[in-house]
Amino acid sequence: MAARLGIKKGDVVQVLAGKDKGKRGKILRVDLGKRAVTVERANFVQRHRKPTSAQRQGGILEIEAGIDVSNVGIVCKSCDRPVRARAKILENGSKVRVCHRCAEVLD
Ligand SMILES: [Zn+2]
Repeated sequence: MAARLGIKKGDVVQVLAGKDKGKRGKILRVDLGKRAVTVERANFVQRHRKPTSAQRQGGILEIEAGIDVSNVGIVCKSCDRPVRARAKILENGSKVRVCHRCAEVLD
């Protein structure tokens, strides 16, 4: 069975560690293999790009690098803080994620 990260693209998360600790943003990408997520406007790194042609100049790009999934927490709108997600099975059999503190549905 594949590892479930409990987090998915489009979730709003807060960075829990590192230089961008406290920053919030939407998840742009999830890399299940690396257990990393890319968070909008967080963990920018500089990448140097070589000029490849006269039309495309070289320079420094700022891009968002992946963050280990253990270093982000999903933000509960009700608690207004990063929380853990718990799975809950609804009466109709569908599975949703809820806040472990206040039971607000996170999906
Ligand atoms: Zn909550």
